[in-house]
Amino acid sequence: MNRDTTTEPGTPARDGLIVIAGAGGFIGGALARHFLRKGCARLRAVDRKPLREWHQLHPEAENICLDLSRSENAARAVQGAAEVYNLAADMGGMGFIETHRVECLRSILINTHLLEASWLAGAKRYFYASSACVYNQELQNAPGLRALREADAYPALPERGYGWEKLVSEIFCQEYWHERGFRTFIARLHNIYGPHGTWAGGREKAPAALSRKVIEARAEGLPEISIWGTGAQTRSFTFIDDCVIGIDKITHCDDLTATPVNLGSSEMISVDGLVDLIEEIAGTRLQRTYDPGSPVGVAGRNSDNTLIRTVLGWEPATPLREGMEATFAWIEEQYRLHGNSG
Ligand code: NAD
Repeated sequence: MNRDTTTEPGTPARDGLIVIAGAGGFIGGALARHFLRKGCARLRAVDRKPLREWHQLHPEAENICLDLSRSENAARAVQGAAEVYNLAADMGGMGFIETHRVECLRSILINTHLLEASWLAGAKRYFYASSACVYNQELQNAPGLRALREADAYPALPERGYGWEKLVSEIFCQEYWHERGFRTFIARLHNIYGPHGTWAGGREKAPAALSRKVIEARAEGLPEISIWGTGAQTRSFTFIDDCVIGIDKITHCDDLTATPVNLGSSEMISVDGLVDLIEEIAGTRLQRTYDPGSPVGVAGRNSDNTLIRTVLGWEPATPLREGMEATFAWIEEQYRLHGNSG
């Protein structure tokens, strides 16, 4: 599926310079595509990775490689910016987050420098990509619990590395508005998936990892796949098109200034249910082995969308089946082209 996300309302500064940090990554690359298709004339895409490793490279943008954890690079990146979108972070799925807390925590440098530099540069709007990992873990210790509302981040007990970094960065963004009048916007993203996402190498998340395992098993004639955890853990997964539309809408809604808001699907499913769905799409059935000792994160999580629905009259609505069909087809093609090396 290659839905045209640009038909949705949202009003990026058409002539002003848009800067996307982390544009070489999954969501940053998709957001750049969204704004370019929407007619944005000036877009600067920035990432630490060499250009050949970017998930999507848009020749019509100004593409530059900079390590944004350094203040002088952050200042260079946002020179002349009207709007800045921070999608840059050292992150991955649970397999990465639970074993790389130092790297995750160090992403605080990116947001700290980028926010200060954007304010100094006179940018008008600043977007920060937070995460559902900020939520109090005691509210997520069983599958199928009630969906998480924005207020559930406090009293704070987030995931120890990645989650705390996100929560503190949210506070930075909020205080730049309260103390300095700099308009910031914060979305708590819930498990984004879709074509062009990471699907191999150790940083991939459940929808891509499970799709790859099923594709591999089918290609190699293996009878079974291994699943992290018990298979009972529940989540909601948000399609990339909904994610970029949501970021655009949130960043252009003044009523959401400095207000963390859930950006996630509320269609909850267990990991076993997700495997069932992928097998149906693949037209295959495999035996399952479970590895309860592997990193799985919290037992249950879903997005309460009351706030986003009330303020924007919109919420992510791509059915999981539809999004997974597009994602599976894309990963299948990548596997055909590159094998399992990603
Ligand atoms: P990604 O890993 O694909 O992209 C992040 C990009 O940031 C990478 O290309 C990386 O090279 C870049 N980066 C890292 N350190 C950098 C630095 N010092 N300077 C410049 N660039 C740097 O991840 P993504 O899935 O696109 O996520 C984007 C943002 O959304 C991140 O902040 C992430 O924490 C947040 N988020 C994502 C999800 C999800 O499900 N994908 C969920 C919640 C929050």
